[in-house]
Amino acid sequence: MFLAYCDECGERFLLPANHVVAVHNLESGVIAVELTCYEGHHILVLSGNDIDIPGPATV
Ligand SMILES: [Zn+2]
Repeated sequence: MFLAYCDECGERFLLPANHVVAVHNLESGVIAVELTCYEGHHILVLSGNDIDIPGPATV
């Protein structure tokens, strides 16, 4: 499950793995996960060891 915030819905969702569109390795330890919310909006979540923020980020 991924915790992701959708700008268009203005809500945070716990999204199951089947909402993952793609996973990108940006650089060592940083992963960008592309998801769709339950309404089908596109969400990008950054995660990884080098991300020094407490929650998921949206771009
Ligand atoms: Zn949405």
